[in-house]
Amino acid sequence: MTQILIIGGSDAGISAALRAREVDETCQITMVMADAYPNYSICGLPYYLSGEVKDWHALAHRTRDEITSQRITLLTDHEATRLDLTERIVDVRDRAGSIQRVAYDQLVIATGAMPRRPAIDGVDQEGVFFLHSMESSFAFQRFLTTQRPRRVAIVGGGYIGLETAEALTHRGLRVTLLQRGASVLSTVDPTLGASIRATLERHRVTVLPEMPVSAIERHGKRFQVRRGANTIADVDAVLVATGVEPNTTLGRVAGLPLGARGAIVVDERMATVNPGVYAAGDCVVTLHRLLQEPTYLPLGTTAHKQGRVAGENAVGGDLRFAGSVGTQVVRVFETVIARTGLLEREALAAGYAPLTIEITTWDHKAYYPGAQEMVIRLTADRETTRVLGAQMLGAVSGGIAKRIDVVAAGLYAGMTAGELNDLDLSYTPPLGSPWDPLQTAAQAWLHERDAGSSSSLTSPAQLPQ
Ligand SMILES: Cc1cc2nc3c(=O)[nH]c(=O)nc-3n(C[C@H](O)[C@H](O)[C@H](O)COP(=O)(O)OP(=O)(O)OC[C@H]3O[C@@H](n4cnc5c(N)ncnc54)[C@H](O)[C@@H]3O)c2cc1C
Repeated sequence: MTQILIIGGSDAGISAALRAREVDETCQITMVMADAYPNYSICGLPYYLSGEVKDWHALAHRTRDEITSQRITLLTDHEATRLDLTERIVDVRDRAGSIQRVAYDQLVIATGAMPRRPAIDGVDQEGVFFLHSMESSFAFQRFLTTQRPRRVAIVGGGYIGLETAEALTHRGLRVTLLQRGASVLSTVDPTLGASIRATLERHRVTVLPEMPVSAIERHGKRFQVRRGANTIADVDAVLVATGVEPNTTLGRVAGLPLGARGAIVVDERMATVNPGVYAAGDCVVTLHRLLQEPTYLPLGTTAHKQGRVAGENAVGGDLRFAGSVGTQVVRVFETVIARTGLLEREALAAGYAPLTIEITTWDHKAYYPGAQEMVIRLTADRETTRVLGAQMLGAVSGGIAKRIDVVAAGLYAGMTAGELNDLDLSYTPPLGSPWDPLQTAAQAWLHERDAGSSSSLTSPAQLPQ
């Protein structure tokens, strides 16, 4: 009977285990995980902190019983400490410190990522928090409920920083967001970043751009966040959200090659160079479908898919991960921002001839109550007209997430701007327009391309609908 050992019990690890079981009724599956929270939705942590999700148990995608009922042996609070890829044995240490040696035929490494610890003096002290795991959220929650801070500084204006800024504001705290670069959410173009900043400021979040933090100093119960000699925030707690890095110590020490951003190198089958060893999720490189090269794109969506591929292949399958196009959506208060594919500068760097247009239009027929403006930036290649990417910003009711998904599907299929315009998309006045905003953008793009413009078009006026 094949022994499958999976290290990690979050999105990638669980997906691997469940798929292995689906495909192979007979194999033995053991999952070891360093924490006690198998298959919890880490993505839901901001909503637990905000109080919108009252009970953290609700964040479980599946209960422990649902997992073990699939005949998956779960070893929680068991940390893998060493891989012996020659003997096919993994050393696993429990909380009491005892080590057991677990043999495997096929191994799936799904150890995820760790929060990046920036070079800031004082980052490792009590009262400075990270948000990456159930345990880290409990620590922060405990602090919030027992110490009752009033002001919190968040270091980092990426999506986790933004979601947490909203969560803490929702809870009644005053938030200062410190951002190293000029614009929040640097994964989208600065004009859209500026809109997100305006949303944050409408909700009394203080946004301080171009503010690299050098030190966090404790004074009694307060923290002074400093940039050089200047105090830039005087707060009761600090949350650091400056991104993640792949958690690859095990693989690296065992000699597995590392690629983009230090993530484990895998092929489309999620196989490492070592026979019988697969890896998936935030600890591995991800094939970018448009760039056709490995990148590092740590997202839950990707981790689930890669885990499924690894799980199927670990029991003898031949599934391929089709690649990511970098689709992402974030809600910040009443605003939703999403992107897929490449920004213009990324497309240029990849050798495309990109043209980007921007339109502002209504998310549904303007005569029907509740219509809100939405902004679409569409990038396509001037020569082939192939769509390369899109960014969208609009209201929560504006269908932003699903509209970006249409473009993501188009990117997957290699669609041109003309084909995007040809799609048979749904319409009813409360939800859309006969020409969906996406198609309006495609038409604007084609018009601009035919006009031979070399610069991006901004069209603040409503286009005919
Ligand atoms: C606050 C927050 C919000 C997010 N929101 C979104 C979102 O909206 N959309 C989205 O797509 N993504 C989101 N993400 C990202 C998403 O959560 C991750 O991409 C996803 O959890 C990665 O899954 P994973 O299984 O690869 O790794 P992880 O979730 O990092 O899990 C790693 C697992 O490995 C275990 N482990 C690690 N080392 C060892 C070891 N040595 N021995 C045994 N076990 C070990 C851990 O205990 C854990 O079970 C968010 C992340 C955070 C932190």
